[in-house]
Amino acid sequence: MWIVLGLLPFGLIAGGNYWQQKVEYAIDISLDVHTHRFVGKQLLTYYNNSPDTLYRVFYHLYFNAFQPGSMMDERSQSIVDPDRRVGDLISKLTPDQTGYHEINKLTQDGKKTKYKIVGTILEVELHKPIYPGTSTIFEMDFNGQVPIQIRRTGRDNAEGISYSMAQWYPKMVEYDDDGWHPNPYVGREFYGVWGDFDVKITIDKAFTVGATGYLQNPDEIGHGFVEGVKGAPANSGDQLTWHFYAPNVHDFVWAADPDYTHVMHKSNAGPVLHFFYQENEKNKENWEALPGIMDKALMYINKHFGVYPYDQYSFIQAGDGGMEYPMATLIRGNGSFNGLVGVSVHEWMHSWYQMILGTNELLYPWMDEGFTSYASARVMNELARQELLPGREYSDNPWERTYQSFANFSTSGVEEPLSTHSDHYTTNSAYGMAAYVKGNIFLNQLEYIIGKEAFDRTMLMYFNQWKFKHPDANDFIRVAEKSSGMVLDWYKEYWINQTHSINYALGDVTEEGRGTQIIVERQSPMPMPIEIRVTRANGKATTYYMPLRMMRGSKPAPEGEKWKELEAWPWTNPSYTFRIPVKLDKIEQIEIDPHHKMMDIDRTNDVLVEKKSKS
Ligand SMILES: [Zn+2]
Repeated sequence: MWIVLGLLPFGLIAGGNYWQQKVEYAIDISLDVHTHRFVGKQLLTYYNNSPDTLYRVFYHLYFNAFQPGSMMDERSQSIVDPDRRVGDLISKLTPDQTGYHEINKLTQDGKKTKYKIVGTILEVELHKPIYPGTSTIFEMDFNGQVPIQIRRTGRDNAEGISYSMAQWYPKMVEYDDDGWHPNPYVGREFYGVWGDFDVKITIDKAFTVGATGYLQNPDEIGHGFVEGVKGAPANSGDQLTWHFYAPNVHDFVWAADPDYTHVMHKSNAGPVLHFFYQENEKNKENWEALPGIMDKALMYINKHFGVYPYDQYSFIQAGDGGMEYPMATLIRGNGSFNGLVGVSVHEWMHSWYQMILGTNELLYPWMDEGFTSYASARVMNELARQELLPGREYSDNPWERTYQSFANFSTSGVEEPLSTHSDHYTTNSAYGMAAYVKGNIFLNQLEYIIGKEAFDRTMLMYFNQWKFKHPDANDFIRVAEKSSGMVLDWYKEYWINQTHSINYALGDVTEEGRGTQIIVERQSPMPMPIEIRVTRANGKATTYYMPLRMMRGSKPAPEGEKWKELEAWPWTNPSYTFRIPVKLDKIEQIEIDPHHKMMDIDRTNDVLVEKKSKS
């Protein structure tokens, strides 16, 4: 079989016997802006592409989290460092402030099914199993109430946006080769089935709606979707029905407000960027400058992280900070200019890391937040280089502070491994540091291990091979292995599954004949390839590079650096001794990892400076 596989194009091999489920939603929802209640119909065609026969299915009913006593409420009240946005607010909700989803009817292929609502999950007993390679149609009538805004979704957010409609519809739970993922909505993020969404939203005609998907009926809508038409067209009734279509996504978000300014901007890269915000004196200038900046950001992102595949993206002022969805984000909008650009870049980068590379955010939040934070750091640095961010300068190493904060955290004793399920970290701060910071460093450090060229190739290969799928940690590592030719399982085991730290130190440096002997010590368990730069008194420098033996490979010399590769370091050896043909008194400085890309928790023992009295 392997001979045949060898003849297949590379991309096919990467997928192996990968499969994923598929959905086609047709949702019709009508929202009453006086009661904040809605009624909806959902027709869902579900394709079972798995090799398994399914006897049950599950739906998420996220709005049920916003009720006193819910799992989200209990968790927020018992965790030692609750999210300030949640705190004990859910416990204090009155009946007209809560959120809920109710199911009025559910059929499978026209016949009623048995179902039970258990918190934020709808458990459905199928009356006939779904066999591998077949599809079935679920028809559902549902209704609900939009909670007041507490977390990610709801009405009347802190900046006065009427409706932030995230997690608003009964959403099929994903089934993959790990099985079902009916995770109760406790606080963390999402995972969804790839498919197509056809969504009709009926709402008071005064409201402008920003959403995932392409508007199908702009002429009936107006509201800035037709050049020069600000509100609803003159001949419309009291309500408008907005018809959106979103192909190949795994979620759908929308937001609505009667005071939105809606701006469309055709980017140089192609996609049309939409901006929805409540204009005021403070934010007007910022939002007017945003389209031009995001246009420039997209050029850089497309080149380095893969080409944005949709024709549209919407930046929508809504929600409680910044939250990513397919083809759209809900962001805060009244802060500083650099803050607005920062949150816009971060949330848009999530289009690559989670919205297109659809990792399970509950199991691999670091592949979502960490990768996004890494890419955002580079995009923001590039915008600074182009002098587009007032007061912010380009940095040779935008990760300096990130590393420092992780070094401090990793010695605090509350760190938990990246392999922890995101809802099950003991503290919110351990989750935050793991997902955002350690996940970010994972990539910058990978570049250190495999070299810049192989790393750049990895990021593009990862995107192109896994877009519109559900990659996991191993899938990413395999791409990095293939693009670098190195064995990298050890990096995954140490960085993802453990909390072992990295600490290398310079040991004795002694005169040896006509040269110098240098000893390097590994003082913490995690092994790494090592670079040591020796700078001579005349200012010239040579970098000595010792790969790890278990990498079974080495990176090429970085451009412009005098480079000498030494014998590989067997990880079992706590120290490494080598000699250089430079006399000790000719050495000005010896430094481990001079570019500061290795997450060494103690850099004070990495540098040796000869103090010579030259008079
Ligand atoms: Zn994020």
